[in-house]
Amino acid sequence: MSEDFLTDVNTQSWANGRHEVQCVNVIYETMDVRTFCFKASSPVMHFFKPGQFVTFELEINGQQVFRSYTISSSPSVPYSFSVTIKRIPYGEVSNWMHDNLKLGDLLTIHGPVGQFNCFDIVSEKVLLLSGGVGITPLMSMSRWWYDTNANVDINFVHSARSPRDIIYHDELKLMDARIDNFNLNIVCQRYENGENWSGYTGFLDRAKLEIIAPDFMQRTVFCCGPAVYMSAIREMLEGLGFDMANYHEESFGSPPEESQVDAQQQADDNANLEVDTQDLFQVEFSNSGKAIKIQAEQTVHTAAALVGLHIPKGCGLGMCGTCIVKKTSGEVEMSHNGGITEEDVEDGYILSCCSIPKGDVSIEY
Ligand SMILES: Cc1cc2nc3c(=O)[nH]c(=O)nc-3n(C[C@H](O)[C@H](O)[C@H](O)COP(=O)(O)OP(=O)(O)OC[C@H]3O[C@@H](n4cnc5c(N)ncnc54)[C@H](O)[C@@H]3O)c2cc1C
Repeated sequence: MSEDFLTDVNTQSWANGRHEVQCVNVIYETMDVRTFCFKASSPVMHFFKPGQFVTFELEINGQQVFRSYTISSSPSVPYSFSVTIKRIPYGEVSNWMHDNLKLGDLLTIHGPVGQFNCFDIVSEKVLLLSGGVGITPLMSMSRWWYDTNANVDINFVHSARSPRDIIYHDELKLMDARIDNFNLNIVCQRYENGENWSGYTGFLDRAKLEIIAPDFMQRTVFCCGPAVYMSAIREMLEGLGFDMANYHEESFGSPPEESQVDAQQQADDNANLEVDTQDLFQVEFSNSGKAIKIQAEQTVHTAAALVGLHIPKGCGLGMCGTCIVKKTSGEVEMSHNGGITEEDVEDGYILSCCSIPKGDVSIEY
């Protein structure tokens, strides 16, 4: 990084694609959540749509791994950006980031991408519902609206395990105190003896929602949190007759059990089908030395699962970008939904969940 970085004002802006970034700060948010701040190696303005995410390309124990993280900062502060990561028990990348990433380290990222953002989904009256680390996209949106004095009526309802797990608590309280159109409500599942908590306790339910946001039917809902939380919210809103066209959510991924059941099901289906071998395409995974012949309609992700390789997968719809891998030969048909940039595609990257080989292919994995 150049010595004169601090004085070197540059109006060149970031474009979607593959970037090298440098870690410039690590902030301890809670016991198991940290914010990592980054700048590009040469100064650029990091523009993105609040709510979008980047995918980190890392090498851990000699293996290339990709994981997506929402940009938690706002493009209104464009000379750096941050991601906020929760340490997941036994999780490979979240633990690696917490234990190894330090100031000055250089990392490769892809993006920013994502359709769950407040530029593409526009509303002047919003209800932000988050659970745990699912707060990150909603925080980016809130920071943007706050910094730009946007005419948006924001009702932010965050659910946390306990008071000590509330991410960004001081900043949220500051926003609530300083602008009229920001209303903060926090629901803690529980609190321990000795903890001072006078907010809502338990889970966000119908009774609490009707007190916190009596006008919720007129609001656009942005929701992000654990799968069980989002499914409870959807069920509650549907039960209340909410117009689900005004409901938008971001999933951080399926629990591993679901992915494993999925792969097992696909393996069984494959074994039971009788097909002409001419209809089978070879998918080779060059890093692990594994290969398999799959049927014409199966995805690269399925092929990996069938040979016992776990490519992390989030949405399964080509939106989240988690399952990005590099294709070194062959052709695929990729029907993604915005989870990969054009530059990445030109560089040979594909989203394995929605890429169907059109012949024999080789994948770096
Ligand atoms: C669009 C998007 C945005 C995201 N934004 C954020 C964000 O802002 N902040 C954030 O913290 N996360 C975010 N995530 C989630 C993130 O991408 C990772 O999925 C998360 O950090 C876990 O990754 P990991 O490598 O630590 O865990 P993994 O290694 O992928 O493991 C995931 C789970 O599987 C379990 N597991 C792993 N291996 C085994 C095994 N052998 N046996 C049994 N269980 C096992 C782990 O215990 C863990 O529960 C986002 C995801 C998406 C798709």
